[in-house]
Amino acid sequence: MDRRTFLKTAAATGGVLATARLASARAAAAPASAVPERKTKHLVLVAFAGGVRTRETFGTPQNVPTLQALADEGVLYTRARTSNLGHFGAALAIFTGVAEQRGIRENARSNDVTLFEYLRKDLGWGPNDAWIATSGGAQQVNYAYGVHPDYGAAYGANTLDGEGIFNREFKLLLEGWGRPRVWSEAEERQLAALRASLARHAGADMADAGGAQVERFLLEELTRGTSDLTGPNASDAKALRVARNLLTLFRPRVTAVVLQDADTAHGNYGGYVEVVRRNDAALGTLWQAVKQDPQLANSTAIVVVPEFGRDRDLNSRRGLDHGDGSEDLSLVTCTCWGPDFKKNSIVKEEVGVVDVTPTICDLFGAKPRHSRGKRLPGLFA
Ligand SMILES: [Zn+2]
Repeated sequence: MDRRTFLKTAAATGGVLATARLASARAAAAPASAVPERKTKHLVLVAFAGGVRTRETFGTPQNVPTLQALADEGVLYTRARTSNLGHFGAALAIFTGVAEQRGIRENARSNDVTLFEYLRKDLGWGPNDAWIATSGGAQQVNYAYGVHPDYGAAYGANTLDGEGIFNREFKLLLEGWGRPRVWSEAEERQLAALRASLARHAGADMADAGGAQVERFLLEELTRGTSDLTGPNASDAKALRVARNLLTLFRPRVTAVVLQDADTAHGNYGGYVEVVRRNDAALGTLWQAVKQDPQLANSTAIVVVPEFGRDRDLNSRRGLDHGDGSEDLSLVTCTCWGPDFKKNSIVKEEVGVVDVTPTICDLFGAKPRHSRGKRLPGLFA
């Protein structure tokens, strides 16, 4: 089977899948009948992380034509309070709705529940409905799920970094291909589940093509073009490319992206501005892909938010750190675009980055039981 046949098959089955999923989601959410019917069926959440000030984004609109266009067609929160934590904890707060102190080098699952776990458990979503593409770094796999006893790995997101490395379980499976070996019982079970899930996505033709080939093919599709990406935002660009490929191939319900290259700002202000500009351009390519896909165009929302800003003044290396407590650091802009949101609206009321998770839960009809954020005000049309 060549790429074209595969994509045709995937496209043909996508609609059926989406309908089936929607039906099951409705059934699962039925008792909470207060949930209004929304147009949004897919969402892309971009943690524009690494420390990005509003001064270099909406304060200099020529740097971010994509963000500006999203805001013009959506809702812009100009005062989103960040969590005064290291990169890891602050970005995690976007996904959990809980701001918690964590060390910058801490590498552990959280006790807090992630957005993915709330959505997958409450709405009965399958394993391929939630993905997270990261710019890299061992810490970032911890955004996929926490260790709360009521939630956890069974409701987590699939992880994929810009180099095409799946989460550990997927990676072990993929490393095994081509080498004849004996699988453990647990591996066999996992493999069977993976194949069944892939077959559901791609239709009978794909299932017949043989498991190993199918999975190889999928990995290649998901990471196509990423090895050619270079420049100061190479890792971020790969994560955004993988997210774009994921969206058009699988059309997951939720696709999250975590960026980080902007942190070059500590020692290089010019490089940081270049990262912001290039990431905006890569986001533009992703947005175009959404608009060109008939199944995604009118049913997809995009939310973009940095984990925090940067200091007001340059440091002695003519770079920008993050620790002065200024408004440049502690307030960022949050951009929301989608079929259920207001158009061309600016909200100046103070909100929080911890409000993102409860808002997305509300959008789909899940309950963010342990989040400490609120629903973003003035968002829905
Ligand atoms: Zn930093």
